[in-house]
Amino acid sequence: MNEFQLIQQYFQQPNLAFSNAYLRHGIGDDCATLNIPSEFDLHLSLDTLVEDVHFPKQANAFDIATRALAVSISDLAAMGAIPIGFTLAITLPSNDESWIKAFTAGVAQAAQFYHCPLIGGDTTKGPCLVLSLQVHGITPNGKGLSRGGAQLGDKVYVSGNLGDAAGALPMVLNDPSLNTGLAQQYYAPIAQIEFAQAIKGYASSCLDISDGLVQDLNHLCKASNVGMVIDPGLIPMSDELLKTYGNAQALTYALSGGDDYQLAYTAEDCQYGICIGEVVAGEKVEVKGMTLAAGGYQHF
Ligand code: ADP
Ligand code: MG
Repeated sequence: MNEFQLIQQYFQQPNLAFSNAYLRHGIGDDCATLNIPSEFDLHLSLDTLVEDVHFPKQANAFDIATRALAVSISDLAAMGAIPIGFTLAITLPSNDESWIKAFTAGVAQAAQFYHCPLIGGDTTKGPCLVLSLQVHGITPNGKGLSRGGAQLGDKVYVSGNLGDAAGALPMVLNDPSLNTGLAQQYYAPIAQIEFAQAIKGYASSCLDISDGLVQDLNHLCKASNVGMVIDPGLIPMSDELLKTYGNAQALTYALSGGDDYQLAYTAEDCQYGICIGEVVAGEKVEVKGMTLAAGGYQHF
């Protein structure tokens, strides 16, 4: 199967490369063309995932795919944007058709779930599997969320349980095909698109927690020029994480582990999510009663 047959049969399949109101030209032309009405802002984000850095090489192709799109779309959720389409650059070591079939089935399932079609991309051969996804989303003009708006006296919230993906990682590395229980939380994070729509009227700032709660909240503090006090007793954690690791290790995962893709945000008062602390004067996150070793994922 050559490059063009592969694109046509697998990437251009109707449940993946579907159309929507914003798409003029999708796969098959030299560019994808989007028609964005003037009352919307367009939000873009690009993520690259490298085998054995961002996911185990031996993982199921389907799981690699669903996770790749979810983590990319999570950045749109953080901005309060609605997905409208994504491009995918894939570097493959070989044209293993069964792998590509499973991979594109996973991408298609996630694309359907987020109503976000594949609109273009690039297919190349290279020494290892690398995926780059550029996601595109819209908000009404000026209505996007950002890291920059936290106000003194705001409360700090998260959208759901933390630490599951970090707790799953040792299991996933031990058995990359394991995709049940906690491992499911690693492979199938859910980008919080709908949740972000619910908090948009309340949130003064927002980001997605990809690299660990404390590290990511520190980014928010820097952008907003504030500090935060977090109460570790308020951090939501799943029963499964607590049961598997006990409270202390679970809390370490929840505070410093990455890959959960929940949202963290600040608001004066909000009925959605779980309050874990407050915004104070300062420039950093303090976790009450704890001194944290520099936590969170960094490539360099
Ligand atoms: P060009 O040579 O003009 O850059 P390509 O031959 O690379 O075009 O791609 C042909 C068409 O297929 C383009 O519309 C491109 O966006 C699309 N395409 C290529 N690879 C992928 C992919 N992995 N996913 C989605 N679309 C792809
Ligand atoms: Mg061209």
